[in-house]
Amino acid sequence: MWLDVAGVLMKRYAAMNTRLLAAATLLAATTFTAHAQGPAPATPESLVAAAKRAAGVDYAGTFLRICVAPDNLGGGGGGGGGRGAAPAARVVPDRATWYARPYKVFDNLYFIGTKIHSSWALTTSDGIIVIDTLFDYAIEPEIVEGLKTLGLDPRAIKYVLISHAHGDHDQGAALLQSRFGAKVVMGAADWDSTLQRPASAPGGVPKRDIAVGPEGLKLTLGDTTMDIIASPGHTPGTLSYFFPVKDGSRTLTVAYSGGTAFNFPRQAANFAIYRDSQRKMREVAEAAGATILMTNHTEFDRAYDRVRLAQLPRAAGEKHPYESDSATVLRYFEMGRDCAEAQRLSIK
Ligand SMILES: [Zn+2]
Repeated sequence: MWLDVAGVLMKRYAAMNTRLLAAATLLAATTFTAHAQGPAPATPESLVAAAKRAAGVDYAGTFLRICVAPDNLGGGGGGGGGRGAAPAARVVPDRATWYARPYKVFDNLYFIGTKIHSSWALTTSDGIIVIDTLFDYAIEPEIVEGLKTLGLDPRAIKYVLISHAHGDHDQGAALLQSRFGAKVVMGAADWDSTLQRPASAPGGVPKRDIAVGPEGLKLTLGDTTMDIIASPGHTPGTLSYFFPVKDGSRTLTVAYSGGTAFNFPRQAANFAIYRDSQRKMREVAEAAGATILMTNHTEFDRAYDRVRLAQLPRAAGEKHPYESDSATVLRYFEMGRDCAEAQRLSIK
């Protein structure tokens, strides 16, 4: 009886093996054929089409900005202060055009940015990490006063993370460092350009604290660890982040992209650097299972709207307005990768 059963099983196993072998042979032949024919070479047009598919409706505005009409298409460095340039002195725009109220968005993440630029307070068991610091005119009303309005103490700021050294993200660094003793974290290459600014630059010049090199950095404060990724491209020292946010009983992972626009000098090598950073971000985002995509301009992640939607009550099981899924997050970086490669190939 048992021998019969064993015999039948063995026959089945042998038959299964034969089928698997046949399937493997067929697959190998197919792979070989496909390889022999070779994939169609990527062209700027095919890459823009691929980027458009990756963008979908989620990132249509970002796609327009970097794939359809990149800022540096007219040649030269474009806006944003350029590489290493000190930001020009600014007149303070009408407050009604930029001021935004602060809001709690996740259990451990608070929006303290303007209508245009994001700044976030990530709270931990041992103090606050501020992510990006806006233009100088917005530091007091948005970050310092914003934290107080939310019941948070600005003196608890331990780290200030600068995604890149352009004035719209870094002018608050020096004040938060000097007034509250926060440590400023920036990419090594962006420290180099920042420290060349005159003392009279808007917002002042922070003292060099923590410089992040190409290897990145794991930054731990209390119960929270952030994965800081060197993602050069927008500037040579651009940093991007992965960090956990709490939504009730759930912990979700944010992928925060630290630089977007193509306003660097229009050279093939710069687009290759940008492309490779997007590839790296895609890889890390996939491994981390990130389901939230954030950027530092509200136009790229609809922060202004999402922050407000997050204030509404939700039905049981309804997702947080910032939450998407892993594939949607990965598509953001696929779009950036393909837009950069399309521009690189179009440079002759
Ligand atoms: Zn910038």
